[in-house]
Amino acid sequence: MTTMWGDSAYFGLDAEFNPDWFLTTEQKQLRRELIEVCHNVLRPNAIECDKTNAYPRANIEALAKLRLLAAIVPKEMGGRGENHVGITMIAETIARYGCPSTALIYMMHMVAVAGLVYRAKGNTEIESLLSRIDSECLIGTASYTDPETGGHFWYPKMSGAKRVEDGWHVHKKAAWTTSSGYADWYISQTTSPDFDGNYGNLSVFLFYKNEVKGSAGKWDAMGMHGNQSGPVEIDTVVPLNRIVGWPGDGAMSNDEAIDPLAMLMYAGSYNGVGLGCIDVAKRHVTRKAHVQYGRRVADYPTIQDVFGRAIMDAQASRLYAYSVAKALDDATDGGRWDIYYEDPKAMPRAEYALWCFKAKFLSTRFAFEVSDKMLQACGGRGYMRDVELERLVRDSKAGWIMAPSNEVTAQLIGKWGLFGSEAIDWWNQKVDEPVLMTELGKLDDAGKERIIAKLNSELQSKKVAAE
Ligand SMILES: Cc1cc2nc3c(=O)[nH]c(=O)nc-3n(C[C@H](O)[C@H](O)[C@H](O)COP(=O)(O)OP(=O)(O)OC[C@H]3O[C@@H](n4cnc5c(N)ncnc54)[C@H](O)[C@@H]3O)c2cc1C
Repeated sequence: MTTMWGDSAYFGLDAEFNPDWFLTTEQKQLRRELIEVCHNVLRPNAIECDKTNAYPRANIEALAKLRLLAAIVPKEMGGRGENHVGITMIAETIARYGCPSTALIYMMHMVAVAGLVYRAKGNTEIESLLSRIDSECLIGTASYTDPETGGHFWYPKMSGAKRVEDGWHVHKKAAWTTSSGYADWYISQTTSPDFDGNYGNLSVFLFYKNEVKGSAGKWDAMGMHGNQSGPVEIDTVVPLNRIVGWPGDGAMSNDEAIDPLAMLMYAGSYNGVGLGCIDVAKRHVTRKAHVQYGRRVADYPTIQDVFGRAIMDAQASRLYAYSVAKALDDATDGGRWDIYYEDPKAMPRAEYALWCFKAKFLSTRFAFEVSDKMLQACGGRGYMRDVELERLVRDSKAGWIMAPSNEVTAQLIGKWGLFGSEAIDWWNQKVDEPVLMTELGKLDDAGKERIIAKLNSELQSKKVAAE
């Protein structure tokens, strides 16, 4: 079926290139509705927000009207109960036809929703928030990245939490947070109240706008202008029920909720950005003529070759993402979250971690690379704003560097492949004895004595503290 764009057929890659066998009839209908909203609201605002750096609140309101802010929230809690395939399609559609900045805002919102929905049952505060997200248009975000540890967001060095009389005293500094100062609510990860140096001991908390010091209006970046990512500071006491799960639940939350959803949302969003580049470039090269040869740019075999390769790269990354999403749906009986309400230690999503990380790498690499190829194919005109490609080229660069960056991801996958998952050592806890002994071997006797004295003094202080 032809994709419609207002009253006309869509100018980009035809619908026959969509791997629609993954989608249900309802999901295809939802995509049609979403494309219409993209045409009428999201895309015009994408152009405007890119020019002015304004936060695209109207786009979020339009998504809330479609009941998409609570897309993955179970129906019993007032949501759509959308599965993993559905949420991948939604992210792809927002980024491709609408606004990449909005897609990234939506991604961080959905990651935060996943964190909440994972431990919602029995927490009246969380259940109440989830039930009002769409009706009150409450946009959330995930504030994780630490200023001292960058893209290794799972080391929240500048953070902590303490049990106090009225609840939890939480402090956190985050280097980047999408919707910083604009979000209505935030989830954030800190070291646990009983933290003793083990960074695997993390806790997750929920905060509202008035409890967080954001940085509205300070975002000044190459692309993703509407995204408004910026530092966040938290130093506040929150009631007891603002802990999501329980003290020390953070690592499981990462493995089971945050990471799988984040990687899928990256995949949908950046496949959408890459497809958007192909779409606008197709529009240009099929219109621009070279009268001296009586040909359009698209008629050159070399241009057809570039598009052929780009389309196949797109399909490889999309098929990969939808297939991982389908595997997650199969493992969770269609994207259910109540499995954790019956068995809090269940980990069906984490089984697919390896596959999820690869989806992030493949999609963000695809968007990064295809944006350059399309710019090249469009020539000088592609450099101009009205072709709509240069904005997408700038926006396409963010995914590669976002956490875990593609360098970190590739090394992680390589290490996993070479030595097995145990070798990953997420929190840098395993001692590399061969390296340690080699380094010690380089010391002369005085050097060795110095190290022995240092270690002895450390042991002595520990003994004294324990007594
Ligand atoms: C548009 C945008 C929105 C964002 N939104 C959010 C958000 O909502 N919430 C949030 O928590 N964070 C967010 N972030 C932060 C993001 O996820 C990353 O954590 C951040 O971009 C990392 O940047 P950095 O400068 O600290 O990079 P660094 O971590 O300092 O990395 C610098 C370079 O070193 C490389 N590198 C690092 N480690 C290794 C290694 N072991 N091997 C090889 N190379 C390595 C990296 O690949 C990179 O090229 C956002 C970032 C952007 C750009």
